[in-house]
Amino acid sequence: MQCTVCRNDLFENELNHQACRPCTDRVDVTLRALAGPDGLYARLSDSLRPGSSSAGPVVSGSREAPTPVRMGPLSLAARGGVVTILQTWLIDWHEGLGYRHPRWDGDLQQQCDQVVHRLRVLLPWAAEAHPAFDEFALELYQLRRQCEAATGGERPARRFGVICECGTVLRITLESPGKKCDTCGAQYALQDLRHLPLAERRAA
Ligand SMILES: [Zn+2]
Ligand SMILES: [Zn+2]
Repeated sequence: MQCTVCRNDLFENELNHQACRPCTDRVDVTLRALAGPDGLYARLSDSLRPGSSSAGPVVSGSREAPTPVRMGPLSLAARGGVVTILQTWLIDWHEGLGYRHPRWDGDLQQQCDQVVHRLRVLLPWAAEAHPAFDEFALELYQLRRQCEAATGGERPARRFGVICECGTVLRITLESPGKKCDTCGAQYALQDLRHLPLAERRAA
């Protein structure tokens, strides 16, 4: 039995779960990073206020629909963005549990905090029993990366290098489910990556 997110073998007390403990913890950390007054969502909204130096250029003219893969700061912050995507998952989880449709109150920031709180409450259930938990986890990681890119809050330290047995430096992130060395073809699972020596951080 393997974790559906990182493909590592599950521990004996996790058999039949969708996700392993480390992946569940990573999801929880990511949810927490999005919510709250200092969270990514709040920073995203701040960066869009008029007069904010970090506001991106306003694109006028064509009214192209945002692609689901890559959303700009406006699309992420607006209805249909981060909050709506999380709410859609929560509705899905409620259905899976046979609960009533969840309710939202307040502005988008308040709704963001509510939905994150609720997802965190139900996270142990989802990691154990939700058949699409891996999709949720990957979509959540993607949302966080997009928010970080949009707010300029991307922390470069999160990407680091480890040294393959052949000497090649493999660039990975904490969320890399695994990595294949293009030089020697070695395939590393997340657990194996953790045991490889760290490469020195690239000079900025
Ligand atoms: Zn896992
Ligand atoms: Zn190699």
